[in-house]
Amino acid sequence: MIILGDDSQRVKDRDAQEYNIRAARAVAEAVRSTLGPKGMDKMLVDSMGDVTITNDGVTILKEMDIDNPTAEMIIEVAETQEDEAGDGTTTAVAIAGELLKNAEDLLEQDIHPTAVIKGYNLASEKAREEVDNIAERVDPDDEELIRKVAETSMTGKSADLNKEVLADLIVRAVQQVTVEAEDGSHVVDLENVKIETQTGRSAGESELLTGAVVDKDPVHDDMPSSVEDGKVLLLNEAVEIEESSVDTQVSIDSPDQLQQFLDQEEAQLKKKVEQIEESGADVVFCQKGIDDMAQHYLAKKGILAVRRVKKSDMKFLKNVVGGSIVTDLDSVTDSDLGFGSVSRDDEDELFYVEGEDAHGVTMLLRGSTDHVVDELERGVQDALDVVATTVSDGRVVAGGGAIEVELASRLRDYADSVSGREQLAVEAFADALELVPRVLAENAGLDSIDTLVDLRAAHEDGDSRAGLNVFSGDVVDTFDAGVVEPAHSKEQALSSATEAANLVLKIDDIIAAGDLSTAGDDDEGGAPGGGMGGMGGMGGMGGAM
Ligand code: ADP
Ligand code: MG
Repeated sequence: MIILGDDSQRVKDRDAQEYNIRAARAVAEAVRSTLGPKGMDKMLVDSMGDVTITNDGVTILKEMDIDNPTAEMIIEVAETQEDEAGDGTTTAVAIAGELLKNAEDLLEQDIHPTAVIKGYNLASEKAREEVDNIAERVDPDDEELIRKVAETSMTGKSADLNKEVLADLIVRAVQQVTVEAEDGSHVVDLENVKIETQTGRSAGESELLTGAVVDKDPVHDDMPSSVEDGKVLLLNEAVEIEESSVDTQVSIDSPDQLQQFLDQEEAQLKKKVEQIEESGADVVFCQKGIDDMAQHYLAKKGILAVRRVKKSDMKFLKNVVGGSIVTDLDSVTDSDLGFGSVSRDDEDELFYVEGEDAHGVTMLLRGSTDHVVDELERGVQDALDVVATTVSDGRVVAGGGAIEVELASRLRDYADSVSGREQLAVEAFADALELVPRVLAENAGLDSIDTLVDLRAAHEDGDSRAGLNVFSGDVVDTFDAGVVEPAHSKEQALSSATEAANLVLKIDDIIAAGDLSTAGDDDEGGAPGGGMGGMGGMGGMGGAM
């Protein structure tokens, strides 16, 4: 027997499943309308009134401020997908939602959740195997095809308008940070690609720069604004007067004493500047502050100094110029310094920093306003990730629903070999995959049933790359039409969607420390109830006896 506290609530068996499935589906439905090139954007306003306008699945879910443990499991699907593949987040979440919807039908037919879970696992494994069978191999030097992968990822996003220019930048950026390993595989190090945004001009004027960009001003007007082939100190220590950690009071009784005190402070600053000079640095990028007086001394010594550089920029600068990030000037040596050239762009008010053997490239994205560049950055980041995935993984599939319809068809064949009730679950899984072309059609204002019928027919006829051209409404070979996606992203979407759906299905008992009142009276497909926020604290539970 379990004794529950007064405020806690408990929901069991079918009610628990129904509650969870509803919450999870609500999340999935929230992002469905953004899927595909014709998907709509969402405007998200946070509690501070800040506005984000986006089409990016994971961004929407992260900003939605959802307070429901089941819904959060679905959001994790998007996050995993983002981490592992960089794109396909809406697809993964939408499939998870559809898997749960179809599971609910099976549960209503009195099929036990464990049979559904088992069937889904079988189907997911088989589907991933088939992705590999269907996938086409890509030569990492096939720029044209790889550019198409980038363009597909950007279609329908704010990056769409300039996707040719941007795809070209992305492909070149990835090329520059790719190395061929001894076994012939390609390793892409995206740590060496940094995206920088700049408002003011248009996205079409975005550029790829060798090295880093630092969006800062020199700390003093008399400093050189450019340094060619110089030594660069990356400093993570304030060039300021050290304040003692305890609050001390200095009582000064005479002008002499005051002078002494000021001299002492000045001496401290001078010492730091001298240490910088003695290290041999021509340029200092400082993550912390630089005192006015120290700025003056540095300027006198002809050293270019920049202060309050972002931590992420410091790390990237280290990739570009080499050396290390110094945290204590007392122990700085020549080997800590990096090497490179710094030049000033007066128009954009930023520094370009190039290293000797040019590790690291920067994509400088431009757009008219902050909202525009932010969404542009999300789109380009996704495309960058898919290109990197494609180059390192070397497999692509046809998009526009082609891969999903083909997988569904193969899964239905496979289902015949599965016995028992699991067979129904495998079929339900196949149906769930077809959600992708259905929603792509729906979002394009097309008839989703007609589209699916046409697609199935084409696949029956052996056209395994038949997908939807959302612009014309026709069924075409989407691979030839240039709608190409990394196979890895599809495999990842399959596995994370299945895992999340199964996790939700396994729960038959919800014990909440708080109030579960919204559980029973939510409208179908409505916003998930927020009443389970207290689930984490199980303090209301007594002990088991
Ligand atoms: P996700 O977050 O899952 O990446 P997107 O909104 O980016 O969601 O949409 C991706 C889907 O759009 C994929 O199924 C992809 O194949 C499809 N797609 C992309 N470009 C086209 C196109 N030109 N025609 C048809 N479908 C496309
Ligand atoms: Mg996408």
